[in-house]
Amino acid sequence: MTEIASGSAHGAAPTIGERRLVLEPREVPLGGVRGMNVLRVLPHRNLPTIGAWCFLDRFGPADTRMRVEPHPHIGLQTVTWPLVGEIRHRDSLGSDADLRRGQLNLMTAGNGISHSEYSIGDDPIPLDALQFWVVLPDGARQGAGGFERHTDLPTVALSAHRGADAAATVVLGEFAGTTSPATVHTPIVGAEIVIPAGAHVRLPLREDWEHAIMLVEGDVSVAEHEMTQNDMLYLGDSREGIEVASTQGALVFLIGGEPFDDEIVMWWNFAGRTHEEIVEARTEWEAASARFGIVEGHDVRIPAPPLPDVRLMPRGRRI
Ligand code: MN
Repeated sequence: MTEIASGSAHGAAPTIGERRLVLEPREVPLGGVRGMNVLRVLPHRNLPTIGAWCFLDRFGPADTRMRVEPHPHIGLQTVTWPLVGEIRHRDSLGSDADLRRGQLNLMTAGNGISHSEYSIGDDPIPLDALQFWVVLPDGARQGAGGFERHTDLPTVALSAHRGADAAATVVLGEFAGTTSPATVHTPIVGAEIVIPAGAHVRLPLREDWEHAIMLVEGDVSVAEHEMTQNDMLYLGDSREGIEVASTQGALVFLIGGEPFDDEIVMWWNFAGRTHEEIVEARTEWEAASARFGIVEGHDVRIPAPPLPDVRLMPRGRRI
């Protein structure tokens, strides 16, 4: 492990430098879902954020009857990206949206929101999806909640130097000069990239942003590192681009952005800055406060777990 370079005397952002670090997912039982485990890719214990990305679960592929009953969020955006199957989203703003492959659900929690997530129909269906969280900066995190569904995201062709061109869908933020229409609050990128069989492609990156790549399906080598499915490869910053190649074809997801400087306290479904903020949000959810509103059409909601006996502390960056 290399030391993080110290900042300049003039207050410029410190450089992280190039990294090539594998972040392995772990299996986590998800509360409120019968018999459903998810793969948790982020956060990594030594890396609380990548840009403002602070969390990533993959649910599936599995035949699942998903019933995530109403639960609250503060201080973050949920970014839901289905791979297989349809998901119904309902929230305390009155949104009720079905979502399938190629479509983005973006929910902004601001100071408080609640939502539910169901698979479509009463029976188990083939389901596979990525759900990320993006931490909000000051201002947006004290602001109003919001919900957006994007069904027509921009795509960009990435010219191959061997084989067929790759195609990127710009899900969030900016990639290769193309910008997603989804609302963001920090300089950020989230892009799904399809790499054809036999293709060698250079992905353009911003030197002042940090990045990471997840292998969703297929095979890929990134900077000559052969990736394992569901691993996240953290790349650090200071790169103008990175070489990727696939033998049989691959689906990868690129995330990144300007390193997020605030130390955040994450607990359950909340992203805050202090122990007190988290305790207050938990108390208000348990009291059914108006802060989190009501998701129509539900008889039950997910209770908050007990707080730990220790004071909640931010987890620092140690990579
Ligand atoms: Mn949620």
